[in-house]
Amino acid sequence: MPVKRTDKTPMPVREPQLRAHDFEEVNEGYCFAHAMFEAERCLRCQDPVCTDGCPVRVPISDFMHAVAANDIPKAAEILRSANPLAAICGRVCPQESQCEMNCHMTKRFGPVAIGHLERYVSDWEMSQPMSDEVQEPWREEKVAIIGSGPSGLVCAGELGRMGYKVTVYEALHAPGGVLRYGIPEFRLPNSILDWEIKQLERLGVEFVNNVIIGKNITMDALFKEYGYAAVFIGTGAGLPKFMGIPGESLNGVYSANEFLTRINLMQAFEFPRAETPLKVGKRVAVIGSGNTAMDAVRSAMRLGAEHAMVVYRRSENEMTARVEEYEHAIEEGVEFHWLTNPIEVLGEDGWVTGLKCMRMELGEPDDSGRARPVPIEGSEFVFPVDNVVLSIGTRPTPLLVKTTPGLKTHSWGGLLGDEREVETSVHRVYAGGDAVTGAATVILAAGAGKRAAEAIHHEIQAEAA
Ligand code: FAD
Ligand code: SF4
Repeated sequence: MPVKRTDKTPMPVREPQLRAHDFEEVNEGYCFAHAMFEAERCLRCQDPVCTDGCPVRVPISDFMHAVAANDIPKAAEILRSANPLAAICGRVCPQESQCEMNCHMTKRFGPVAIGHLERYVSDWEMSQPMSDEVQEPWREEKVAIIGSGPSGLVCAGELGRMGYKVTVYEALHAPGGVLRYGIPEFRLPNSILDWEIKQLERLGVEFVNNVIIGKNITMDALFKEYGYAAVFIGTGAGLPKFMGIPGESLNGVYSANEFLTRINLMQAFEFPRAETPLKVGKRVAVIGSGNTAMDAVRSAMRLGAEHAMVVYRRSENEMTARVEEYEHAIEEGVEFHWLTNPIEVLGEDGWVTGLKCMRMELGEPDDSGRARPVPIEGSEFVFPVDNVVLSIGTRPTPLLVKTTPGLKTHSWGGLLGDEREVETSVHRVYAGGDAVTGAATVILAAGAGKRAAEAIHHEIQAEAA
């Protein structure tokens, strides 16, 4: 039974709430022998369809050849020239639905483990000594990047490499976007992100944290007062959606964004050493079925939940999380309740005590092409829970749009881009990543950052000529 609490009774904090090492990366990387074995499985196909499946078109066959020849520096060079966030993508990219899905080996023998080799090579690269030398920008023009997620980081890096003076403005107190505040350390250690950011600093890129563009500095001021020649918007899609069901404002209900940010950015698991607590009870229900839901539910387990469950209104077949994340969640003991739709969060004295749900069945496909969940009359029941974490999607925040005249969006809030999705409706303002596409993936955001850097360079040089 849930514990009865009053507003004045703080939720009990178990000691120790979490050991820091519970958040360390859970998977070991490949060893040398394993990497060679996998690379030698590559057929070096005439039509390397694996590359067609890669949003940034890594020349995978050449990369495999270099690994098989044990020329790891060359493999690293090939990889990095196409994917500036290789160490990160080697850990979080959904290869099974991209390059590895296309691989000619997939049907009969299983795909070449492209993602694991990407990680193997970039981990080697990170183990190499790094010089402290910082490149001096050699061009006069300055570019501002708003947001330090993968789209902003890649755009900054590419422009830095071209010799521009680049400043990345970040609203939070540490750079990285979702890579830092969303994806937990057991999947993506902060040390990897820090290494990538260090590479950008070596290219002369400057990071300014704790600045909200559109509030502390307007877009207009970036051009007129600060003298930037172009601006890239990589502000992501961090505004959580809510279900609009009764009880959502009870204590103990979190959006997945808030839940994960408190853990990953604010180190809530160090409470009371860290100042921001996260009150996690013994039974936690996470609503949704994407990567974010898996991260939230696995984090809840690490924070001491004895029953951590995923509640989703469709079936396992319609789940949107990576298969790998789903399997890890099962291994860790997460319960899955498919075809179950929450209709009310129940509470006592202001705190969550239960989640009222209905059983569903699948009907005809809806606009998204997925089977429509249909409620089964009279099937209501209650899960006794202490916390509810909503992970049903996010959308771009409207702040920048509201404060930037002429910056147009789709009706759902995504910034309007051109056919290559990098030019906005405002001259010399470019955009990419989740702010344009809605919640998507790291590699798509990185690809957009790269295209935007090329477009910015092209525009600046064309106007200067
Ligand atoms: P973001 O990463 O969202 O970064 C935007 C940054 O802009 C933020 O730091 C924000 O604080 C800052 N910002 C916003 N507004 C302003 C402003 N006005 N001024 C200054 N700064 C501002 N993708 C995968 O490929 N694999 C995964 O396994 C995966 N797991 C995920 C797990 C979680 C929990 C989440 C939430 C997402 C996951 N994704 C995953 C999706 C992926 O992380 C995103 O698609 C990607 O990070 C989007 O990058 P972005 O550059 O568009 O923006
Ligand atoms: Fe190698 Fe598979 Fe790509 Fe062929 S499709 S080049 S086997 S990784």
